[in-house]
Amino acid sequence: MENPLWHPFADMGAVDGDRFVITRGSGSYVWDDAGRRYFDATASLWYANFGHGRPEITQAVTAQLEKLDSYNLFGYYANEPALELASRLSSLAPVPGSKVFLGSGGGDVVDTAVKIARAHFAHTGRPEKSHIIGRTQGYHGTHGFGTAVGGIPVNAADFGPMATGFSHVAHDSVGDLEAEILRVGPDRVAAFFCEPVIGAGGVLLPAPGYLEAAVEVCHRHGVLFVADCVIAAFGRLGTWFGIDRWDVRPDMVTTAKGLTGGTIPLSALLVSPDVAAPFFTGSPGAPVLRHGATYSGHPVACAAALATLDIYEKDGLIPRGRELEKPLADALSSAASHPAVGEVRAGLGFLAAVELSAEVLAADPGASGRLQRLLRDEGVLVRPWGKGIAMSPPLIAGDEELDLLASAIPVALSRLGG
Ligand code: PLP
Repeated sequence: MENPLWHPFADMGAVDGDRFVITRGSGSYVWDDAGRRYFDATASLWYANFGHGRPEITQAVTAQLEKLDSYNLFGYYANEPALELASRLSSLAPVPGSKVFLGSGGGDVVDTAVKIARAHFAHTGRPEKSHIIGRTQGYHGTHGFGTAVGGIPVNAADFGPMATGFSHVAHDSVGDLEAEILRVGPDRVAAFFCEPVIGAGGVLLPAPGYLEAAVEVCHRHGVLFVADCVIAAFGRLGTWFGIDRWDVRPDMVTTAKGLTGGTIPLSALLVSPDVAAPFFTGSPGAPVLRHGATYSGHPVACAAALATLDIYEKDGLIPRGRELEKPLADALSSAASHPAVGEVRAGLGFLAAVELSAEVLAADPGASGRLQRLLRDEGVLVRPWGKGIAMSPPLIAGDEELDLLASAIPVALSRLGG
């Protein structure tokens, strides 16, 4: 009988009977249920930044489970790991004094950021300033607001009317952004959501100057700049938060994934002191952010995050995302000249995409899924997206793994045609 497990973003007719079961992970590698080893070239789903199987996480989680296995953060309840994590993240944040709101996944903090942006203006006398602008090809998770602010239309298509008050601009055009702010009216636009490097939408790197100009336009018009760094943070771009690679001041920063290396679900939203101010006046009767979930600030997840930050610091992993960006681009140079390839995008951070040529995609719209499987046969796991494959290896990957990518991808590309 078929297994009832329903996989996210999966064609269940194709999955059934063909499940690929991962049973073990260590370092940059995972093993399937037949005992075969694979290079985890997308760090699972862009998150296993320190790889798999670190004993420090096991120890931290076990110790926390033994001490306090759970407690909620509602009202005045707090727990030690959540307090320590908030302090550590705030001290590293691009904007000094940032407040930290904790969730369980990237989508949680995206929706939290939409609500905080709107609530900030509602409580500073501008409730009509609620419109949110996203970017084409942007991905911000699958919660209600995240689906609406995302710019990959197929992800919203089946779900009926979207939340209102959202629009999208070309991901690479600051001119479009400013025109949209002016069209809607600066006094009506609350925030602009922007991944520093678009990840799930196909690893689209920002043109030089784009992010600085986008932040400048937002701030000139009184629009909050929300950097969605769910993928970009924790070393992926060679800095703690991703957006801090550029000399800009984000009003909010979303993080998740690498925060715990994916070991325990956790996300964190950094909120600049100005944006948080209406909620932190210190006087009774100040506005309350009526938002949060059962597991916000879960002590076991926060303990995993604290151990994760220690690993990043102890092993010097945060700068690796920048150090490895050229070696990764070099490893993909042979793929770039392959006739089945339209474009390789790499060279900014330790992530990359190989986009198939228009001819290959016209002949077989499912070619990226086939390429994923062909690479699996070569012992490499990658993430397919509409037009190709994406990679974001663990920051501990080295020459051996990059050599494997350099040799396996051209082999898989050549088999794609046959
Ligand atoms: N934002 C970005 C930039 C992401 O890449 C993702 C997930 O890939 C999300 C938000 C949503 O995160 P989650 O899947 O943990 O809800």
